[in-house]
Amino acid sequence: MDYNELLDKAFSELPALSVEKSDFTVPEADSLVQGGKTILKNIDQIADKARRSKDEIAKYLTKELAAPVSLYEHTMEISARVQSAELNSKIRRFFEMYVICKECHKPDTHIEGRERGYVTISCEACGARYTIKSY
Ligand SMILES: [Zn+2]
Repeated sequence: MDYNELLDKAFSELPALSVEKSDFTVPEADSLVQGGKTILKNIDQIADKARRSKDEIAKYLTKELAAPVSLYEHTMEISARVQSAELNSKIRRFFEMYVICKECHKPDTHIEGRERGYVTISCEACGARYTIKSY
């Protein structure tokens, strides 16, 4: 096992603290570094689980990774080399910040609005509504 594989393994075994009250699991990124690019092969599954559009996730990753992101029919391509441990931690953060409800820890939220760099998240499970910094 090389260093990156060890890192992947360590990340995949970390418990997701903020989701401990729910049985929801953040999907693992299935990615592949090819030349100077990274292909995310299961963007459809991630977008589905998050109930966000692929464009939203692309926008978030563009900012987080400071690299251009392109969407294709079933894949996402990041114009940078991103190891899967890093990609997974970014995706986990996306779910923790923008998908999983702060109050009830369920993933049943949607984006209600956006204003001046902030996003309002609304939870369909418990009715919570809160505003956080956008991506
Ligand atoms: Zn809630």
